[in-house]
Amino acid sequence: MNLNWTEIQRKRLAALDADAATLARTFDDADRRDRAFQTLEKERVAAHRRHLDDLRSGSRRPRLCRLETVLIETLVSHGFVQVTTPVLMSRGLLARMSITSDHPLFQQVYWVDRGKCLRPMLAPHLYYVVKDLLRLWAKPVRVFEVGPCFRKETEGARHAAEFTMLNLCEFGLPEDQRWCRLESLAALIMDSAGIHGYRLASETSAVYGSTMDVVADADGLELGSGAMGPHLLDRAWRITDTWVGIGFGLERLLMAAEGGSNLARFGRSIAYLDGIRLNI
Ligand code: ATP
Ligand code: MG
Repeated sequence: MNLNWTEIQRKRLAALDADAATLARTFDDADRRDRAFQTLEKERVAAHRRHLDDLRSGSRRPRLCRLETVLIETLVSHGFVQVTTPVLMSRGLLARMSITSDHPLFQQVYWVDRGKCLRPMLAPHLYYVVKDLLRLWAKPVRVFEVGPCFRKETEGARHAAEFTMLNLCEFGLPEDQRWCRLESLAALIMDSAGIHGYRLASETSAVYGSTMDVVADADGLELGSGAMGPHLLDRAWRITDTWVGIGFGLERLLMAAEGGSNLARFGRSIAYLDGIRLNI
């Protein structure tokens, strides 16, 4: 007889961060399986309690917050200026990114009222700020924002309705250096996040046409999407400069750095604290 975990057992073990081999185990009979479950659950709970104690006596901050701090410090020390814009975004600014009712991403937008949504991306507000900074500052102009974004998603394990985006951009660099600059900015972020196995891949994007994605070697997980300009979308902002930009998901970066297949552990949560399930 080849018995799998019951659905409840499998869910509990997954929540306790059991590895793929454990989740795939099969058993000869229900009795053995249930005993194995009890032993494993006990072990996992003990490990999680230890992690919780380590958090309290150690860093005292969730990894998501620590990663955010590290990335902010890295970018600031490399000449990027942090901006912090509203989480609420107007319908008009999304439309300027060509995200209107006929656009695939439009269906994923959470509307707060008729004219305002929870931002699904940082780019419209960055464009808004940069169009003025390009007038006020000598080039290159380098800015970034990090903060929550929201999308209605249908896929579970690698997507969350609420996630943390880091979007950096640099305007006014020599045209022939754009690709090279994208590569070195991707390397800077990967290095700061402690991710060593990644590659750059050319992808088609619903917003930018073609993008340069940063992809984890281990499982092909998309960690970030980069683009360059001059770009058609720039016209709405009367921007004519060259630019490069990349948007990363911080929960995805943590997933790639630490392993695991459950993005929810790394995001904002009331069920987990620093990736540790609290109902233990
Ligand atoms: P995917 O194809 O994986 O759904 P995307 O191409 O739609 O992602 P982008 O618009 O390129 O996503 O957003 C930039 C980055 O933000 C992604 O590379 C990813 O790291 C992260 N991201 C996007 N959507 C989510 C989500 N729902 N949950 C967690 N991270 C996300
Ligand atoms: Mg993408």
